[in-house]
Amino acid sequence: MGVTKASPGFWIWWKPPARDCCGRSPVQIRLTEQLLDSNTLRLPAQAEAFASAHGERDLLRAMDWARARGLAVMPLGQGSNVVFAGDLQALVVRQCNADIQVLAQQESWVTLRVSAGHDWHALVCRCLDMGFFGLENLALIPGTVGAAPIQNIGAYGVELEQFVEAVHCLYIDTGEPVVLTGKECEFAYRNSIFKHELRDRVIVTAVDFRLSREPLCNVQYPALQRALAARHITTPSPRDVFSAVVSVRRERLPDPAQYPNAGSFFHNPVVTGAQARDLAEQWPDMPLYPQAHDTVKLPAAWLIERAGWKGRRDGDVGVYPEHALVLVNFGAASGAALLEFARHIQQAVAAMFKVQLNIEPRVYGAPV
Ligand SMILES: Cc1cc2nc3c(=O)[nH]c(=O)nc-3n(C[C@H](O)[C@H](O)[C@H](O)COP(=O)(O)OP(=O)(O)OC[C@H]3O[C@@H](n4cnc5c(N)ncnc54)[C@H](O)[C@@H]3O)c2cc1C
Repeated sequence: MGVTKASPGFWIWWKPPARDCCGRSPVQIRLTEQLLDSNTLRLPAQAEAFASAHGERDLLRAMDWARARGLAVMPLGQGSNVVFAGDLQALVVRQCNADIQVLAQQESWVTLRVSAGHDWHALVCRCLDMGFFGLENLALIPGTVGAAPIQNIGAYGVELEQFVEAVHCLYIDTGEPVVLTGKECEFAYRNSIFKHELRDRVIVTAVDFRLSREPLCNVQYPALQRALAARHITTPSPRDVFSAVVSVRRERLPDPAQYPNAGSFFHNPVVTGAQARDLAEQWPDMPLYPQAHDTVKLPAAWLIERAGWKGRRDGDVGVYPEHALVLVNFGAASGAALLEFARHIQQAVAAMFKVQLNIEPRVYGAPV
């Protein structure tokens, strides 16, 4: 069967001849899909085509469909870390699989394989319920499991890389499977191989995690310590940590359903030790976080606030008044307007501190 003639917005059913040996459940591909409801910034954009994949077979078929038309394939999770600044000449693919499989367990640890479409926060909750610990500090981060390795999600002193045993992917151009060990993912601060060598080349289909079955907690992060102290908790359980993280996040971060946003809009910049010492002389109250190799991480929120941009607004775009790192779409902003606003912030920070702020979410559809 070939492609059914379809007008924009209609579902079409397609069975690629090469792979459809069983002739079951053809993948649904929708032409000209609006993405406003598919990104947490609620930016308007249109994808040339959209597919919901319920498994690897669907993914392969969708990729075949795109390849036959010379169309790029763009994996999309919950759209919580993207900026759509124009239409996408691509087949956008969303994975719906949300399986959890226990691969192995011993008294003190367990390994799980989780499908890419599983909601991240729901995974954190399920692990806690099952007595599998470690992910509590990453509670309430929006998004899918498949997207989590892309920027090595992190919060409250913990990063995803601490738990990743392997990441299962398919090459977009051939459909061939590839499995990367945690080390091969080259995880770093909000970074991984998926943002460099493998950018736009693979789709993550599942992630293997190794979690603790012993209730160990990471409470190094000062804001977390303060939240636990305020509750008079001295020996916290993983559930205490989870609850504290959830309440701190709810206090500090705007809910995208109310104030459309993409979380932190800029990375915390990392500068050389020498540059940090110069800055500290000029701005003695600037918080500095020493890193490896004589480098220092600076809090982007502090820089933005000092540059006078916290709470500033231009039309429908603005900086969230309670958190300088979060840009909000207060109405019907376009991606272009949001990026223009972000550029002004970058210029103000560069002029004041000679520090470059880099945008954290992936930008699509903007002229290069
Ligand atoms: C309110 C708010 C708070 C946030 N807090 C944090 C935080 O504390 N820490 C943190 O690290 N992040 C945070 N984020 C950012 C975001 O939640 C994470 O980056 C998350 O992992 C994105 O998941 P997603 O499914 O929405 O990905 P999407 O936004 O859909 O995609 C992001 C990128 O990953 C790619 N991608 C998605 N799925 C796949 C896949 N299966 N295979 C290959 N590539 C894929 C996309 O093509 C895109 O380039 C926050 C965002 C919001 C809105």
